[in-house]
Amino acid sequence: MKNYKLLTPGPLTTTNTVKEEMLFDHCTWDDDYKVITLEIRRKLLELAHVSEEDYTVVLMQGSGTFGVESVLTSVVGDEDKLLIIANGAYGERMEDIAKHAGIPYMIHHEVYYKVPDAQKIAEILDQNPDITHVSMVHSETTSGILNDIEAVSKVVKERNRTMIVDAMSSFGGVDIPVGEWGIDFIVSSANKCIQGVPGFSFIIANKQKLVESKGKARSLSLDLYDQWATMDKDGKWRFTSPTHVVLAFSQALKEMEEEGGIPARNKRYTDNNKLLIEKMAELGIHPYIEAEHQGPIITTFFYPENHKFSFTDMYTYIKDRGYAIYPGKVTEAETFRIGNIGEIYEEDILKLIEILTQFLKENNE
Ligand SMILES: *Cc1c(COP(=O)(O)O)cnc(C)c1O
Repeated sequence: MKNYKLLTPGPLTTTNTVKEEMLFDHCTWDDDYKVITLEIRRKLLELAHVSEEDYTVVLMQGSGTFGVESVLTSVVGDEDKLLIIANGAYGERMEDIAKHAGIPYMIHHEVYYKVPDAQKIAEILDQNPDITHVSMVHSETTSGILNDIEAVSKVVKERNRTMIVDAMSSFGGVDIPVGEWGIDFIVSSANKCIQGVPGFSFIIANKQKLVESKGKARSLSLDLYDQWATMDKDGKWRFTSPTHVVLAFSQALKEMEEEGGIPARNKRYTDNNKLLIEKMAELGIHPYIEAEHQGPIITTFFYPENHKFSFTDMYTYIKDRGYAIYPGKVTEAETFRIGNIGEIYEEDILKLIEILTQFLKENNE
């Protein structure tokens, strides 16, 4: 029987009550459905600590990348210039998007195990007055590092540029006061820390900047302004909405409130993560990111030393016993990753360690 929990950074393990919402085929045109979308948008504003006067929410069909692509291709005009800050594959994906769409851009690379330095970004902005927009990832899922978007947003704001954040794997799991930090566009998706299922992304946008972007979009389906203009009228989606995913997401938001909102979820994830790192250390397995910058979402671990080690063998062994883990994604070292978001609790982390301990024992003879 196919039955395991996901220790991956999304899709992740959801509750049965979230999955059960998808047993109903909802129609899309009546008020019953449209109010669900409106309510989701209202709750996301609350989670971002912003008001309806200054910010708004757009839901966009597709996976998380569709949301990032929608923002970059809709708000950075042909006369503008984007500075991409990258210390992982998701930052680099923004460059891919810019290349495909012909968006004028420059990129600032940082090594994967370091957080980009706000002072350096400030210097780049001062040397390049033609840069109008800056984009970066908050939780770089490639490594598990948590970037300091507060410090970077500050220098961007002080210089009157537009700040775009990919908070895909952190929004809902890490508290982000979007307005206070001066973030203009922040993107996440249904299947990460809110604990819904895959099918749409969402963008929390500075309303004025969104309105200014009207007519700039390079794509029809990913036109952020048009998507918003339709949805903002009464909650109707432009083009077919992923109804089952929307119902599941609405339930996931309710369950998040019941858990105690972002603070409670952050605590559970952080506790999971700390326990995981502590127990792995006892097995001689150490994280790739220094403790100071390690985020609470996913951890990259080096392969254990002095051990005949095969990731595939370990993966299969663990999966047969109830958990799916993740291969590494950093380029310069042999690593694997373990996510601890979703319906994952202390007992799961302890169970995983037990399985891994047994695997290492059996394979070290
Ligand atoms: C998951 C994720 C994305 C989106 O990936 P999709 O596969 O398109 O859902 C983007 N950025 C980060 C940091 C992510 O963790």
